Amino acid sequence: MPKVVVVGGGWAGCAASVAARKAGAEVTLLERTDSLLGTGLVGGIMRNNGRYTAAEEAIAMGCGEMFLIADRVAKHTNVDFPGHAHATLYDVARIEPVVRRFLEGQGITVLFGKRVTRAEKENGRITACVTEGGERIEGDAFVDATGSAGPQTNCTRFGNGCAMCALRCPSFGGRVSFSSLAGVSEKMGISASGRPGSMSGSCKLLKESLHPRIVEALNSTGVFVTPIPPELGKKDLSFKACQQYALDEYRENVVLLDTGHAKLMAPYFPLSSLRHIPGFEDARFVDPYAGSKGNSIRYMAIAPRDNALRVEGLDNLFCGGEKAGTLVGHTEAIVTGSLAGRNAALHGQGEELLKLPSETAIGDMIDVSGREIAAGEGLSRRYTFSGSYYFGRMKERGLYSSDPGQIHERIKRLGLEGIFGKNRFEGQELDGERR
Ligand SMILES: Cc1cc2nc3c(=O)[nH]c(=O)nc-3n(C[C@H](O)[C@H](O)[C@H](O)COP(=O)(O)OP(=O)(O)OC[C@H]3O[C@@H](n4cnc5c(N)ncnc54)[C@H](O)[C@@H]3O)c2cc1C
Repeated sequence: MPKVVVVGGGWAGCAASVAARKAGAEVTLLERTDSLLGTGLVGGIMRNNGRYTAAEEAIAMGCGEMFLIADRVAKHTNVDFPGHAHATLYDVARIEPVVRRFLEGQGITVLFGKRVTRAEKENGRITACVTEGGERIEGDAFVDATGSAGPQTNCTRFGNGCAMCALRCPSFGGRVSFSSLAGVSEKMGISASGRPGSMSGSCKLLKESLHPRIVEALNSTGVFVTPIPPELGKKDLSFKACQQYALDEYRENVVLLDTGHAKLMAPYFPLSSLRHIPGFEDARFVDPYAGSKGNSIRYMAIAPRDNALRVEGLDNLFCGGEKAGTLVGHTEAIVTGSLAGRNAALHGQGEELLKLPSETAIGDMIDVSGREIAAGEGLSRRYTFSGSYYFGRMKERGLYSSDPGQIHERIKRLGLEGIFGKNRFEGQELDGERR
């Protein structure tokens, strides 16, 4: 059985681990903090716009477990909010333990507090990774899923300082790119304002700090929208990572979504201004703690890779999630993580690597983002199925659909049905499920 080591336990690393395991590998997942999901600990929005199509493609191909889990712990489904249709909002308080138990139940070794700080190489191949504590973990193939957010030096240099986000760099040590440790020269994304990186685009407010009528609207519909009083001016969103939300509706309104906490669709919002808005007089940030001043800076370390998600120049290193491009989102991390994980396992068995055709939204996004980032123009784009540039392309190419039957039929026609195996989650009860 080949041994696959996944570095980084965000959505990409979790999906990579499951796909590698299903492809017959022994899998070890190393995470530097005490929890899985990385930035997914504070996200929540799934299935909005073209993400619906990508999630159904993944389910049809047999790498849909993470979507099925998010559906099962959803607080709201089929939610419309400005510029976005049919979203699912998962409960950020519940999802991490459910994913962790699922991974462990699949026989994946999940190790926390393992910050990888060294790569050992021999003849263009990685042989082992070494943690800060000096532990050496050997593997036949590796997946870099370390993301692109932080460490706090980047947030200080290119943002407004460490905003104390879910990644908790000061406590666990900042992100370290595994590709870079292995000698790969990485690229930085550029924001619309020309600055390196981009600032994460949403915060969380304590629901208990909001007026009961706002909480009531959130609990019942999942959404609350209210205009920003003109004297506070419009929000500047030019540095925002999530270009799908850089729309006038978000400049002129406060948009909240219910993901357990109240998700505020703005990179940050000075508390003194926020508290001028009716119903927000007592508002308090819960993530990032300094959401009044800033947010995490992302897209600081993107690895060059091909369409099989193999990192250029290294025979047995694959990458997924934000490491694989200026890709925004849980869905984008899950689908690329799945492909990277499967290919790591296939490589370990000496089998041909999988590349997804451009007739799938997933294959097309991997292909177009890879080419455009290599050419340079993609560094200022943010690729997401949910809006902006790539969703436009998806619609033009007839790839967008919110009809599961049609999406599954397309995957079948392309000979890709169940190519990752069966969705092991189907029919399995979630341990600890409370709904
Ligand atoms: C505040 C915020 C809100 C968001 N909201 C949404 C949303 O609602 N919907 C949506 O689709 N997307 C959302 N996103 C974007 C989305 O979360 C990310 O694009 C996606 O989840 C990235 O996943 P990833 O696995 O590539 O990286 P990450 O989530 O960054 O995970 C990387 C992991 O690697 C670990 N790591 C790093 N270095 C090492 C190392 N050397 N050794 C071991 N471990 C290491 C980190 O601790 C982390 O757990 C949001 C992002 C932020 C920041």
